[in-house]
Amino acid sequence: MIPVQIKIKEKNYLFIKWNDDTETSIKLANLRKNCPCAVCVSEKDNNGSKYIPIYSNEQLFIKDIQMIGSYAIGIVWADKHNTGIYDFNYLKKISDLSKQN
Ligand SMILES: [Zn+2]
Repeated sequence: MIPVQIKIKEKNYLFIKWNDDTETSIKLANLRKNCPCAVCVSEKDNNGSKYIPIYSNEQLFIKDIQMIGSYAIGIVWADKHNTGIYDFNYLKKISDLSKQN
């Protein structure tokens, strides 16, 4: 599935419209919490499943979104963290997960 539209909604959601006409909104906090980069993943591993990261406003504010090829987006957070590459399947997966909450 491919996004046809990506935008920030109500300041703290990432809104994605997909090419099958479905729409999903991911809370930016969830997006950051699920950052797939090596640094964040190892931090989560080291701290165990009960670890609750506390983020500052800067860490939950998106400065820029870049297309990575035709399969992913790269997110640049306001604290300059930019190593997270979110492929489309992963985005869909975490947006489905946050729907259940
Ligand atoms: Zn990360």
